[in-house]
Amino acid sequence: MTHPLRIAIVGGGPGGLTLARILSRHGVAVCVFERESGPLERPQGGTLDLHVESGQFALQQAGLDDAFKRIARYEDQGSRLMDHHGQLLFEDPNPEAKDRPEVDRTQLRQILLDSLPEGCAKWGVSINHASQGDDQRWTLHQGDRHHGPFDLVVGADGAWSKIRPLLSPYQPQYSGLTFIEFNIDDADLRHPLAARLVGRGTLQVAGEARSIIVQRNANAHLRGYAIFRVPTDWAANTIDLSHAPSLKIQFQGWHPDVLALFDAASPTLLVRHIHALPVGHRWAHRPGLTLIGDAAHLMSPFGGEGVNAAMLDAAELAQHLLETPDGSKAVQAYENHMFERVMPAAQGSAEGAALQLSHDSVALSLAHLHQHLTPQ
Ligand SMILES: Cc1cc2nc3c(=O)[nH]c(=O)nc-3n(C[C@H](O)[C@H](O)[C@H](O)COP(=O)(O)OP(=O)(O)OC[C@H]3O[C@@H](n4cnc5c(N)ncnc54)[C@H](O)[C@@H]3O)c2cc1C
Repeated sequence: MTHPLRIAIVGGGPGGLTLARILSRHGVAVCVFERESGPLERPQGGTLDLHVESGQFALQQAGLDDAFKRIARYEDQGSRLMDHHGQLLFEDPNPEAKDRPEVDRTQLRQILLDSLPEGCAKWGVSINHASQGDDQRWTLHQGDRHHGPFDLVVGADGAWSKIRPLLSPYQPQYSGLTFIEFNIDDADLRHPLAARLVGRGTLQVAGEARSIIVQRNANAHLRGYAIFRVPTDWAANTIDLSHAPSLKIQFQGWHPDVLALFDAASPTLLVRHIHALPVGHRWAHRPGLTLIGDAAHLMSPFGGEGVNAAMLDAAELAQHLLETPDGSKAVQAYENHMFERVMPAAQGSAEGAALQLSHDSVALSLAHLHQHLTPQ
């Protein structure tokens, strides 16, 4: 089928690539403009659990069930909560029975990329802004280079979207939480103590205005976050980011097995400031433009919904575009539904972020795990 619209997607993350895949599989010509120079420019980050009704549904719409099953780690769905003395407070009684398998971001991106037509993803294209011509079509600008014109531009360019300012005056706000990421390679063989402590899934160690979350990724890689409620300049001024064990000073008195995680980690630490758009973020429809994923509804990671919401946005937008010949009506239908759909997840993530590192965060984390993971 020749689709009447010429569509550009800005951003080749999980949202943008899912949209490109579903559209192109139905014969719609679409381009993805991605600022990274190639798929291996940087590691894509941690493990993600894909939910049946959103992330997994989107991959079905993309015709990628089999590829998904090859990368899904059902065996890594465990959850543990410990206090800072190393006492185990909670362990998921039946993790393998869940249907929220973990996938590595790099592998997820690769199965999506492998499914796209040749030349669909344009690498090394960092879009600065978009402008509208007299014919109402949009041109994308990359410095003094131009791409287009397009009938529809979809901003799938994440937290600091260059498309969002054309639709909304809102910018993400700092949540007050800073994550300092550390990484432990080849844990089963080289750091068995750390591997056992974390187990098959996610370990949270909570206590005294600090917290640590460590997740098992593919290939026995552990990725952890030391979490603080601090101003944005605190980490760079306080922590030696080239020496992971320097984090130990921030966790004095914590159990030695927990502190040993920092000794096992590769030297370099990464600072991630957690931002979010306001709960209920929305915009007035503007023909020829829309947003999906973090560009539309950036949330703190505490709900574990961000990537799932991004992929469901992609699936729903694609479905509307395929079913409704009038592109503007299709986009409005997507937007009106999406604004309502993401509200509970955005609310939950905002509450999760607000409760982190409060004086009773151990009790709150325990209550959350019992509510969500204990069989009823
Ligand atoms: C520490 C942390 C942990 C998280 N953990 C989870 C989790 O466990 N579960 C979960 O569901 N979510 C999690 N998230 C959230 C999740 O990462 C995002 O919601 C998800 O990646 C959003 O996908 P996206 O495609 O909308 O945007 P992104 O993944 O941000 O992709 C955007 C893409 O656009 C490209 N881009 C940006 N600007 C431009 C430009 N100007 N021109 C061209 N290309 C551009 C970027 O290079 C990138 O490839 C976490 C986030 C963080 C920070």
